[in-house]
Amino acid sequence: MGEWSYGRLRIQMNKAFDIGVESLSRNGGAETAGLDSRFSRPSGETIPSDKFDATDTAAAKSFGDTGNGGTFFLETFGCQMNDHDSEKVAGLLLSRGYRQVETPEAARMILYNTCSIREKAAQKVFSRLGEYRERGTDKIIGVLGCVAQQEGHDIFKRAPWVSLVCGSASYRKLPEMLAELEAGNKRVTGLDNDTDETFETEITRRDNPWRAYLTIIEGCDKACAYCVVPHTRGPERSRGSESILREVRQLAELGYSEVQLLGQTVNSYVDPTAPRMKFSDLLLEVAQVAGIRRVRFTTSHPRDFGADIVEAIDREPKLCDHIHLPVQSGSTKVLRAMARTYTREEYLEKIALIRGAKRPISITTDIIVGFPGETDEDFAETLSMLDEAQYDGVFGFKYSPRPNTPSLALNDPIPEDIKGQRLVMIQEKQRVIQTARNLAMLGQELDVFVSNKSRRQNQWSGHMTSNRVISFSSQEQELLGSYVRVKATDSGTGSLTGVHVG
Ligand code: SAM
Ligand code: SF4
Repeated sequence: MGEWSYGRLRIQMNKAFDIGVESLSRNGGAETAGLDSRFSRPSGETIPSDKFDATDTAAAKSFGDTGNGGTFFLETFGCQMNDHDSEKVAGLLLSRGYRQVETPEAARMILYNTCSIREKAAQKVFSRLGEYRERGTDKIIGVLGCVAQQEGHDIFKRAPWVSLVCGSASYRKLPEMLAELEAGNKRVTGLDNDTDETFETEITRRDNPWRAYLTIIEGCDKACAYCVVPHTRGPERSRGSESILREVRQLAELGYSEVQLLGQTVNSYVDPTAPRMKFSDLLLEVAQVAGIRRVRFTTSHPRDFGADIVEAIDREPKLCDHIHLPVQSGSTKVLRAMARTYTREEYLEKIALIRGAKRPISITTDIIVGFPGETDEDFAETLSMLDEAQYDGVFGFKYSPRPNTPSLALNDPIPEDIKGQRLVMIQEKQRVIQTARNLAMLGQELDVFVSNKSRRQNQWSGHMTSNRVISFSSQEQELLGSYVRVKATDSGTGSLTGVHVG
């Protein structure tokens, strides 16, 4: 599957178990295992791409008349949240009359929505920009997202052919920035991150025809020692529950039956408006929207994960049986150094809550190996965490020192080869666990939402509510977008195989 971003380099074993991070990227930087167009208004109305033909708009006439007028190419690096930001950025541009094109060559404006969570991801963007060093360009080039926020004006020094540098906390100002570019300004920046606004757009161009993503909380206040997110995405800002529910209703009217609520710490959601809904109540309300059949949410922070979320899942079958609960390390000593705000024992209490649910709930996690000071004993505790928690998917990452993070000041770095060995050990252990967990599902009849038709005749695939992927055979002619029952007949590490039974 190649490199993911917050989870891009999925190894075979995770191939099937896409956690939210999935559809995204075409680039990125994660290294592990795990579960796995249309145009719509804020939450809604589908707008066919031909409606966005910008040939007679102001945007089309701007940026010079080179035949590709108001066209843009947008490439996304990083996690699901970045992908969804790109959907909103694209929606905003389309609403202003720009037209999206498939290749940089066909575009007048080239935008990179970047990820800086690990060094590898950030480097990718500079390698993209470097492609213009030799050959030069008369195109408008913009860097958006986390690398923009992190590197700021230095991007202009490293790549003087860049005209726009805009962090994710400034996306609301994109229309003004575009106007400046249209007016011929060659250096436009949006680098505030002290905003208390969320990035809501009037139009969102959704890439996934089956699953609609909605950001309900932006930024992060948690300050984990290794993480750039608080710096690049700013403080936590939750979106009002009424506005979220309005968008979900619009999505349902458009035909989406599955929504995924997004946030770096989605369960830290605090409704800023009356009725000051709790996160678990919001989940239940979203599930009540007519037409919605599946509700997912990611990523949950262990500190804010309470029994009320499990109770909500128990009460409402539309809340999917999957929770992504990053542990990062199995050692309390390392967790403290990471400033994760929970101990191994407290984390295991959350796992016990989930395992106590009335129906089985899949649990996936993120793990960082080689954090400064991580001893063999600490790492052994992470391996034993896999045994105790029995995850259905694990995204493993080698610790990557990042600018502006507290852990940069820590001594005792772990050599790269040790990090690599530890990552492989995580993957191997998880492979065994996942294979056994999938095997235990044989013979079960499962609800599957069909999202893919194979080139092989009569072969389809889709997601279970646990987010596992299952491929199955069926004699039906058209199943895409429907919910079916599939009996599991075979299993591997990353996916299951079955037959359509109804
Ligand atoms: N907010 C989520 C949480 O608290 O778990 C995670 C968001 S982060 C975009 C996704 C994952 O990237 C983290 O869970 C962590 O495992 C990994 N990550 C973040 N910073 C990292 C770093 N400096 N080096 C390696 N992995 C990192
Ligand atoms: Fe980063 Fe920690 Fe916030 Fe997650 S909770 S985004 S890992 S600072």
